[in-house]
Amino acid sequence: MRCKCGHVFDQDADHESYALVNDKDYPKFLVAEIEVQQCTDEESRQAALARSSQYVGFVLECPKCSRLAVHTAGARTLAFYKRDE
Ligand SMILES: [Zn+2]
Repeated sequence: MRCKCGHVFDQDADHESYALVNDKDYPKFLVAEIEVQQCTDEESRQAALARSSQYVGFVLECPKCSRLAVHTAGARTLAFYKRDE
């Protein structure tokens, strides 16, 4: 993924990253996360993680220009927001 300023968000880079869950989905997300924690084998854990992750998006903060790149759960593209000066 690339910021509008050209910075590339690498997986091991120096940017901040946050999980993002819509308030209306939060109770369902919590139930799904509890199911993940209660799994006793890897196959069921992976299935539970897949169910839980459908509620999770992310926010990345660009270390170069401070823009936020927002990816809501289920979205196909990033939305960028630039910091006020
Ligand atoms: Zn940037």
